[in-house]
Amino acid sequence: MTARDHPGAVDPYASKHGSASIAVEHYDLDLTYRVRTNRLAGTATLRLLTREAVEEVSLDLVGLSVEKVALVGARLARFTHRGGRLVLRLAERVPARTALTVVVSYGGTPTPTPSPWGPVGWEELTDGVVVASQPTGAPTWFPCNDRPSDKATYRTSLTVDNPYRVLAHGVLVSRKGRASTTTWVYEERHPTSTYLASVQIGRYEEHVLAEDPVPQLLLVPGELRAPAREHLDQHGDLMSLFTTCFGPYPFETYTLVVTGDDLEIPLEAQGLSIFGANHLSSATGEERLVAHELAHQWFGNSVSVASWQHIWLSEGFACYAEWVWSEASGGASAEAMARLWHERLSTLPQDLVLSDPGYPNIFDDRVYKRGALTVHALRGALGDEVFFGLVRAWTARHADTSVTTEDFRAHAREHAADAGGAVLERSVEKLLDAWLVDVRLPRLSAVPA
Ligand SMILES: [Zn+2]
Repeated sequence: MTARDHPGAVDPYASKHGSASIAVEHYDLDLTYRVRTNRLAGTATLRLLTREAVEEVSLDLVGLSVEKVALVGARLARFTHRGGRLVLRLAERVPARTALTVVVSYGGTPTPTPSPWGPVGWEELTDGVVVASQPTGAPTWFPCNDRPSDKATYRTSLTVDNPYRVLAHGVLVSRKGRASTTTWVYEERHPTSTYLASVQIGRYEEHVLAEDPVPQLLLVPGELRAPAREHLDQHGDLMSLFTTCFGPYPFETYTLVVTGDDLEIPLEAQGLSIFGANHLSSATGEERLVAHELAHQWFGNSVSVASWQHIWLSEGFACYAEWVWSEASGGASAEAMARLWHERLSTLPQDLVLSDPGYPNIFDDRVYKRGALTVHALRGALGDEVFFGLVRAWTARHADTSVTTEDFRAHAREHAADAGGAVLERSVEKLLDAWLVDVRLPRLSAVPA
């Protein structure tokens, strides 16, 4: 059971975020930001549907003040904003599938919010802003239903001081300059998880890394132009390998942002990835990270997790994509990478169930690497043709939606049965049990009989 299927169900991985009682269809954000004072203000208009009969609608908004709330589609009795929850109390109960529009006027000084993995969300750079929200940082800059499964379309209008450049997710539809400010408007037509909604602000130059099959752009401060271009000179090959292996690139463009500051880790957002200056240097930068973040556009962003419980479906595939790129670009083979990591994992505590690691462990490296090993074991059992066919069918079938581990298991069983009948289906089922459900690390080569 997941929160996606059962509105009333409690998702232990939701960390008191979001609400299963509503589904947001569209966010319209109309915001102004002053870089010098870190002051954000504006209006968020949310179009949503109730998923069950409700007396209140609750949203997440952290660290900013709400000035006014208006509601269309039901009568608002009052609203409260405490502990990061904006709760709209309705004058009367409304049935399931009621269409509501919530308009929130808000503002303040956005800051990252603490999480078990460090601060996340809107963060000031030395000269600009980075938004890196995974998993719970989205409410630091807009009121939202902060669950990965509640995907919505967006229009993001952001007015900033000149000469700062704004990147948001989606397609740039207008850019209007005035004497001292410019308004940037982006439209996102792909349903997007809140943590993948993003804006990046900086004094960036734009460069085209490659054009095919979609524009791959680089936003970089002028002083980092040369190392960034050198580090990313194979990006066109990487993109074409992944479209061959995983299916068509899911969005209109892909932008790599390199910030002037160092960042702890690179991070993906919808149609873009963010790297720190440190990720470019030959000493601290790793090519695998560029592959990893790009792979998330298929695994995590287009095909999202219905709950953080299923994060291996994002991180396992993104990690496996690193190995696929390593092999294709003349590095270690995927098999060699799998053996290396299997050996390392076998020395670590084996107390984690991949399909249900527990909320505190969702970013544990064992989830990433065992996830990648699961994908590799499945490839070994099916052979390349069936395996990559299965992967491309997976990204096509579930594009723009969210999925669970059980969805993947059913998909794998189906493809195994098509390719090798009941015998292969059974052996894939056992293999997935061993990797996803058993605590003990399975042997790498053995497909359980
Ligand atoms: Zn990742």
